[in-house]
Amino acid sequence: MSNGDVLARYEGALMQTFGVPPRVLVRGEGPWVWDADGVRYLDLLAGIAVNSLGHAHPRLVSAIAEQAGTLMHISNLFASEPQVALAEKLDALVAGESGRVARTFLTNSGTEANEAALKVTRLTGRPRLVAMEGCFHGRTMGALSVTATAAYREPFAPLPDNVTWVPFGDLDALAAAMGADVAAVVVEPIQGESGAVEPPAGWLAGVRALCDEHGALLWLDEVQTGIGRCGDWLASRAEGVVGDVVTLAKGLGGGFPIGACVATGDAAALLQTGHHGSTFGGNPLASRAALTVLEIIEDEGLVEHARATGDWLAGAIEALGLPEVSHVRGRGLLRGIVLNQPNAKAFGSAALEAGFLVNAPRPDVIRLAPPLIITRSDLQGFLDALPGLVSAS
Ligand SMILES: *Cc1c(COP(=O)(O)O)cnc(C)c1O
Repeated sequence: MSNGDVLARYEGALMQTFGVPPRVLVRGEGPWVWDADGVRYLDLLAGIAVNSLGHAHPRLVSAIAEQAGTLMHISNLFASEPQVALAEKLDALVAGESGRVARTFLTNSGTEANEAALKVTRLTGRPRLVAMEGCFHGRTMGALSVTATAAYREPFAPLPDNVTWVPFGDLDALAAAMGADVAAVVVEPIQGESGAVEPPAGWLAGVRALCDEHGALLWLDEVQTGIGRCGDWLASRAEGVVGDVVTLAKGLGGGFPIGACVATGDAAALLQTGHHGSTFGGNPLASRAALTVLEIIEDEGLVEHARATGDWLAGAIEALGLPEVSHVRGRGLLRGIVLNQPNAKAFGSAALEAGFLVNAPRPDVIRLAPPLIITRSDLQGFLDALPGLVSAS
């Protein structure tokens, strides 16, 4: 089996939603993966901010294996202890010190977590949502309806509507868009798919205040930014902001598909029996995986590690003083290297050839979202290669 053999079959077997990928990956260990031709890569993308613990973390592998051999799936007509323990942990994480009650609905993905959140907002009885330009919330019809990219939305019209778009980071524009008909304001604390775009300091706290003033829910999409990725358990916690609805997914399962919609305060009681459901959501296996990921992040101090390593990495890239690089943005281990030219795609290909997995969410931005376990010495090879990669692309 080689890259070429499998990729030749890929095109005939799968819908072409992703195009044909450049490599076939066969195994991973820590921050490293190997392709079907035996070539090794440093994984600086972690399956798009998913593999928080890298690949094949022994403690996660054995927890999943043990749970699979005990009880894998039971439907939500029955309860499991891992599911309850996970929900308790997420409720505590999202409520923080706020003293609010919190309740969790478990899903299989980020977009489904946002679908649940959207249903919560409908039950306020208010019809309008406010979303941010540049945002991404997922590909199912509800999540898509609050996703900014017109090219993602337009082929699938009509979608749920009554969405007001405001520029990300602009409090005056948000204030002007608010009103008594606004059910919720949906925001990413840092826009991941836009290439790790940060709002100005104080903006998120301002959004919280505007939501309170107008009786609207603050819906935080932490699908990409949460679970330690940005150097806090939740990126919103950097400004001390607590959401009414918080959605999580990517890093939560460490590679096992799972998502969560966590609601706090009055919003925690909006979804009632019969309002929503899922066959798979929060099954014992997925819940055990996520619970184990949270325990390992805690035990290994990976939130602090992500913060320190991310700061060091951004500083080290900027210290190279490369003329092709404008600046580095983002927080923790969710970073965008902003180029002076729209060469990010070519950079991605050059990086792949040189043994690094990255991606280009925008024409001029390279995204780095390595596993939270990555070390400075793992990253040094990338820093050493960076001048050659930017000048070659
Ligand atoms: C990835 C992402 C989603 C969608 O998650 P899926 O698991 O791909 O459905 C939603 N919101 C944000 C902020 C994301 O980054």
